[in-house]
Amino acid sequence: MAANDVYVYDFAEGNKDMADLLGGKGANLAEMTNLGLPVPPGFTITTEACRAYLATGREPDGLAEQIDAHLAALEEARGKRLGDAADPLLVSVRSGARFSMPGMMETVLNVGLNDESVSGLAAQAGGDERFAWDSYRRLIQMFGKTVCEVPGEEFEHALEEAKRARDTHNDLDLGADDLRALVDSYKKIFTKHTGREFPQDAREQLNLAICAVFESWHAERAILYRRQERIPADLGTAVNVVAMVFGNLGPDSGTGVAFTRDPASGTQGIYGDYLANAQGEDVVAGIRNTIPLQELERLDKKSYDELLGIMSKLESHYRDLCDIEFTIEQGKLWMLQTRVGKRTAAAAFIIAGQLVDEGLIDLDEAVRRVNGAQLGQLMFPRFDLSDEPKALAKGVGASPGAAVGKAVFDAKRAVELAKEGEPVILVRRETNPDDLPGMIAAQGILTSRGGKTSHAAVVARGMGKTCVCGADTLEVDTRGKKFTVDGRVIAEGEVISIDGTTGSVYIGEVPVRPSAVVRYFEGEIESTEDALVKAVHRIMSHADGARRLRVRTNADTGEDAARARRFGAEGIGLCRTEHMFLGDRRELVERLILARTDGERQEALDALLPLQRADFLEIFQAMDGLPVTVRLIDPPLHEFLPPLEELAVSVAVAHERGEDVAKAEAMLAAVRRIHEQNPMLGLRGVRLGLVIPGLFAMQVRAIAQAAAECKRNGGNPCPEIMVPLVGAVQELETVRAEAERIIADAGAEDVSIGTMIEVPRAALTSGQIAEAAEFFSFGTNDLTQMAWGFSRDDVEGAFFWRYIELGIFGISPFESIDRDGVGRLVRIAVDEGRAARPDLKLGVCGEHGGDPESVHFFHEVGLDYVSCSPFRVPIARLEAGRAAI
Ligand code: PEP
Ligand code: MG
Repeated sequence: MAANDVYVYDFAEGNKDMADLLGGKGANLAEMTNLGLPVPPGFTITTEACRAYLATGREPDGLAEQIDAHLAALEEARGKRLGDAADPLLVSVRSGARFSMPGMMETVLNVGLNDESVSGLAAQAGGDERFAWDSYRRLIQMFGKTVCEVPGEEFEHALEEAKRARDTHNDLDLGADDLRALVDSYKKIFTKHTGREFPQDAREQLNLAICAVFESWHAERAILYRRQERIPADLGTAVNVVAMVFGNLGPDSGTGVAFTRDPASGTQGIYGDYLANAQGEDVVAGIRNTIPLQELERLDKKSYDELLGIMSKLESHYRDLCDIEFTIEQGKLWMLQTRVGKRTAAAAFIIAGQLVDEGLIDLDEAVRRVNGAQLGQLMFPRFDLSDEPKALAKGVGASPGAAVGKAVFDAKRAVELAKEGEPVILVRRETNPDDLPGMIAAQGILTSRGGKTSHAAVVARGMGKTCVCGADTLEVDTRGKKFTVDGRVIAEGEVISIDGTTGSVYIGEVPVRPSAVVRYFEGEIESTEDALVKAVHRIMSHADGARRLRVRTNADTGEDAARARRFGAEGIGLCRTEHMFLGDRRELVERLILARTDGERQEALDALLPLQRADFLEIFQAMDGLPVTVRLIDPPLHEFLPPLEELAVSVAVAHERGEDVAKAEAMLAAVRRIHEQNPMLGLRGVRLGLVIPGLFAMQVRAIAQAAAECKRNGGNPCPEIMVPLVGAVQELETVRAEAERIIADAGAEDVSIGTMIEVPRAALTSGQIAEAAEFFSFGTNDLTQMAWGFSRDDVEGAFFWRYIELGIFGISPFESIDRDGVGRLVRIAVDEGRAARPDLKLGVCGEHGGDPESVHFFHEVGLDYVSCSPFRVPIARLEAGRAAI
């Protein structure tokens, strides 16, 4: 990097849009400065400087000089000099990355104090010796811990010791002499651990503090936090050097935090806490009890009124809920930080609606301010907390939902109890692939270790199962089949409730209530009935008006189709017909598979035909007037027969007992005949249709007849026949030729025929395939499986957690589309398919169709629709709107 790069910006030189360079805190301090708000003067050292430092291990050329220049300006502004014995300038050195990483990185306050300037500070504070020595001891403590890695407990012990000697628990009871003695003890602790004296040179203190903040980017907890929150690892942090203002200068001073509205509910009002005569870290550390912000009005009306004025100015300027940190120094208000505040999912919708009403944002912006993940959270059933149950423990809400069940401590027991119909919660220290059957059987999973990317979290999210992980106050004793929290023992079989959204764990059964948002989608409550539902309705309506992508659903029954339609589905993108061959119909399928003659096979098909016809009729009726894509049978046939080992054992046992085994043996022979090592790459999809005479024909006939019947009854069916697993146009042409004949025979009209694109070869030869297809639907589940060579049924629990830990991918590619690889195949097929057939209809029906990130990708590449499970339909609608705005 060149020596003339700019690494330091005065607050007056930045603005809120410079967060990449100045970090969130620096950019917002600059914005507030330029708004004319009372921000203590200061400057920001850029993230670029941090990256250069971390790359080379030393400060980039030119940085020191730039800091000197800005420091001189700061000294000028305050009329004080850093390190001056008579009237010292003190500064805070604060981290501030692009994305907020609360408490993950370092801050050092009171930089600039030493054995001499401590007296100068006292003199300037009207002879307040106590304040000066307290500030000095805070510097040594923070500096020692942060910059020189002195164990923090040693300082805390010394402070406790000093309080014990005075027989008090309150820091404020320590006098100037006590604090002076404490400074001595702190200095000894510092020297013991670092082998050097506490640095007296103020500029050296500043330098070391800045480098420590840079280095804190690589602190273990910061790395972990970034991984959990998917914050890129190479951004680096900015450093803010700010003139100190003191909230601990007496009863007319103090410090506080505030929100411009309630971040939990969105309700407007004054939300915040205040602590008189204290510095910011006292609030965070919970050393003394704060008072509600409203009480500040009584203590200091002038500052209170000014604060309210600033809060309302910030809201209208940021056009959003802001959170704020402030300090009052002897009656003078100072703003130390603001940012657009985090909020709950419900508050996000409500606040967006309120801001529209207040004319601060338009509806486009309101749609941008919320997202599908938040809407998804609002659709889970919730615990009814009206009785205010006390949480036993708290972990990370890793996979949302409200689960209640008996605590069990191993996977085997979970499976046993679940088989008996008992709901269970699997409790483990952490999970591993051996726990998978138990995780599947359980209502929810609770672990005492690991975060949002742990095995438990990743697998649970993949399964849509409630999970709380990292509840670290739990001592899990799997052998003893119990866990202990704060001395309370919970044994196997005791009922617990876990909340996968908030991470709370409760003893006993907390009642569950259905989500109001789902009840609204279901049409059970009016959109005006509650504030949240009203906001959701309004934002969804606007997203619907804005989106280009249509949203269909994956549904195989009339009931699912009807529900999805209530949720806003505009047709069916995937009706999987294999689900119609289970239950009582399995026997007919067995007959089909076991048939030894054409006649036997035809008999089985003839028996299936009316059943299939009735299935389709029901679905066409539920989706009357909307397209219904019916996929011809796809899975390998062995899925309809008993497992080989199980069958072999039962035949052997029956033999032993002298029972008649002829039928069972015929079945065993058939299972052996069709057994495959790799069934997902074997006889399935279009291959079945080409190998088993009459199978696809029966399905096409049932679709065509059902459509014709529906039409005769006055309906408006819009069937689309979809052929799975095609890899070559010739496969499709063969099926198509036969299907067209059958459709014509049945007298059905307007039945289009298309294919799934789920084999990489199909994507790569899509120009040819489009000649025989009126539509493509991307089967991104198989396309991901085959592009990566990952078995979709096995790998998530087996090793994805490790891949995520290593950063090979940030999220399972089965959950969110792999844009670079699988996405490239999709782009090729879109471009080449449309080039060959400009009116080719394009959709996606893999799981990705309901994933927010992926919906944006499908919008970008120009698909016509996405299709997803009924519960994801509203999420896809919202995200499709957001993608278009
Ligand atoms: C797919 O592969 O993406 C798809 C939708 O089909 P299935 O999941 O039934 O294999
Ligand atoms: Mg598939």
